[in-house]
Amino acid sequence: MPNFKDKIAIITGGSRGIGRACALELAKAGVKAGLNYHQSQKEAQELVDLIQQSGGEAIAIQADVSQKQDCQKLVDQTLEKFGRIDILVNNAGKHTESLIDKIDETSWNQMMDTNAKSIYMMSVLAGKVMKKRGSGVIINIGSVAGMFPRNTNTAYAVSKGAVWTLTRALAIALAPQVRVNAVAPGRIETDMSPMDSPQRRQLVSQENLRQRIGQPKDIARVVAFLASDEADWITGQTIVADGGSSLI
Ligand code: NAP
Repeated sequence: MPNFKDKIAIITGGSRGIGRACALELAKAGVKAGLNYHQSQKEAQELVDLIQQSGGEAIAIQADVSQKQDCQKLVDQTLEKFGRIDILVNNAGKHTESLIDKIDETSWNQMMDTNAKSIYMMSVLAGKVMKKRGSGVIINIGSVAGMFPRNTNTAYAVSKGAVWTLTRALAIALAPQVRVNAVAPGRIETDMSPMDSPQRRQLVSQENLRQRIGQPKDIARVVAFLASDEADWITGQTIVADGGSSLI
């Protein structure tokens, strides 16, 4: 396991699902974290308590990352508490199912602002701090949907497609001090993608080469690797972590 002793991270959407798993994985390796939540205050506080009971350090910070002033607040409160930012995990995301001619403009904009614009805003703000200090790592959570859109998830897929391009653009813009990479998960068992019946569990298990259901920690481990010095020669890349489902 990488050693992140005394490294400081911001994890957006850290209250549930993949963000929660990232927070636990990084905290286990010594990271002190600013855990962002939007609406799930209780879950975020419970996670902070859990990390602190295990000897780690974290604070919960409320912010809607689709709003620039909230992104600034998230960066400022993390700096106020911990003094620097070494790792930024841009994980917060929304999902919607809708045919392209049925989705309304407000939902389309919300999707883009939460899943893509937030990454641009958080990375510019945190990247400035990292560049000034001379080092930093940014990891974006994309999706295989960004490569393989379906007729019913166009807005989500387009917003996740932007994450692939943003990752490369930010890697160029923030070099040489800051590395920027992304993880593109396939289906992972979270509130966003519930496995709510035995039939669904069976179907989803069969949809990948590993023949099981992806779990948040499958993504958190890749994030921890990309955040570590072991990944020092990797920047501007998106790692697909989907148990091979995109090959079927
Ligand atoms: P989830 O369980 O629904 O959790 C979403 C998280 O994002 C929550 O912590 C939520 O915070 C936060 N969030 C949503 N809107 C926000 C906003 N405006 N500001 C700040 N935080 C916000 O989803 P998940 O499955 O863990 O998804 C995490 C990431 O992985 C997303 O980017 C998603 O697109 C991506 N992903 C998921 C899957 C999958 O199958 N699960 C597959 C591919 C990619 P609150 O609860 O506090 O409101």
